[in-house]
Amino acid sequence: MVKFYNTMSKKIEEFIPGGEKKESINDYPPVSIYSCGPTVYGFAHIGNFRTFLFNDILRRFLKFRGFKVNHTMNITDVDDKTIKGALSEGVSLKEYTARFTDIFFEDLKKLNIEEFEHYPRATDSIDAMNEIINRLEKKGLVYKDNNSIYFSISKYSDYGKLSKIDPESIKSGTRYDTDEYHKDDIRDFALWKEISKEEPGWQIDLGYGRPGWHIECSAMIRKIYNTTIDIHTGGVDLVFPHHENEIAQSEAAFDEPFVRYWLHAEHLLVDNSKMSKSKGNFYTLNDLIEQGFSSRAIRYLLLTAHYRKQFNFTLDNLKNASQPLSRIDNLVLNCEKSQKSGEIRELIKDRIDKLINDFTSSLDNDLNVSGALGHFFEAITDFNKYYTESNFTLEESRIILECLQKIDSVLGIIFFKEEKKVSLSEQDIEDYIIKRDNAKKDKNWDEADRIRDLLLDKGVVLEDSKEGTRWKTV
Ligand code: AMP
Ligand code: ZN
Repeated sequence: MVKFYNTMSKKIEEFIPGGEKKESINDYPPVSIYSCGPTVYGFAHIGNFRTFLFNDILRRFLKFRGFKVNHTMNITDVDDKTIKGALSEGVSLKEYTARFTDIFFEDLKKLNIEEFEHYPRATDSIDAMNEIINRLEKKGLVYKDNNSIYFSISKYSDYGKLSKIDPESIKSGTRYDTDEYHKDDIRDFALWKEISKEEPGWQIDLGYGRPGWHIECSAMIRKIYNTTIDIHTGGVDLVFPHHENEIAQSEAAFDEPFVRYWLHAEHLLVDNSKMSKSKGNFYTLNDLIEQGFSSRAIRYLLLTAHYRKQFNFTLDNLKNASQPLSRIDNLVLNCEKSQKSGEIRELIKDRIDKLINDFTSSLDNDLNVSGALGHFFEAITDFNKYYTESNFTLEESRIILECLQKIDSVLGIIFFKEEKKVSLSEQDIEDYIIKRDNAKKDKNWDEADRIRDLLLDKGVVLEDSKEGTRWKTV
């Protein structure tokens, strides 16, 4: 049984998508998931990617368990920071945010994060924001001040149920305009903001201006799913006020529950304080890749800790990640070089079954990745022992590799293709092979070796045989 910790109830609950229990997992409708995405005003740091990787593991695991998923991650392409960035560079908001959106998608690929079903941009959902604001206005929950429109927290009795904030303590009528909130700012929030002359603006029924940050997510969710969604995720810093405000405006507007399960990921720390752009204590993915770390090791390290526990990042931890990864590679290599025919040993079959069972039950329990990894590495030790006792037969290799594929459909670290390894086209590789053949014919061994090493560096391994040179990527 799949269980998640729900921030709303503060309990671990059985996961029932659609709100109605079915006989089998296949009978459930696709799981609707919304994950708060990046604000595209600069490079995301690996703290952000810890949260995005959690989303990736969540969707991969649900698929592994047989659920279908319908997953959205938004791109916040209008807010205080993006507008400020575009104005200071003298480029349009669209041009400015498109640049950082592209970089973000490249980073997701480098980290082997699966492509989600939807990546809506806030600026494409103005119509849905208009609808929500109109509904709230009809219910008397908004007020206008100059040309900004505010949600009136004191008029909405359900406010505070996610973060358990006491609505009594809310100072009504105090407006807070900026998108950058701090925990103790318990004040009415802007749904729609007045703009200065140079800022980009949009017309909605109640005025000209631009969206507040919170309304963006509510609008994108409504536009894509049109009803209650199963899972909403984000980092813990978003519980209050962002998610609280999303709930308030969505439930007040549509009179139905907004979200069934709220899942929040804990922070990545540096020297025991939150990694963040404002503190300057952050690494981007490229910072680390330039230092020679592989994105595979970064992925592995970021997913080792349970998502609800804080995790302190150090370069030493990252260096140490290569050791478990080479244990995995070693097992894959042993499987790939096994050529002998013969039966499958019973103990190998049993070990595979045990691994899949243990792995699944750890993840069933609120996505306990660290537990699942523990079972995986125990199994690797056993498989290596069986290999030392007697090399795998072809059939044994086949079922072990199949099991690894299954495990990797969740972890995404076993058959990981580094970005640099796919940077050559097949034609490029063939051309290099011809050049190398010619060098060999000329007995120019240095040149032949140089080409071999150059390809290896890009993750292409050459295998010379009587029939010629074959290549594969690693
Ligand atoms: P932002 O681009 O700042 O809106 O953040 C995108 C996502 O990253 C949000 O879900 C944040 O909660 C999350 N996040 C920000 N800092 C960290 C951190 N140090 N560790 C983990 N997640 C973070
Ligand atoms: Zn959001």
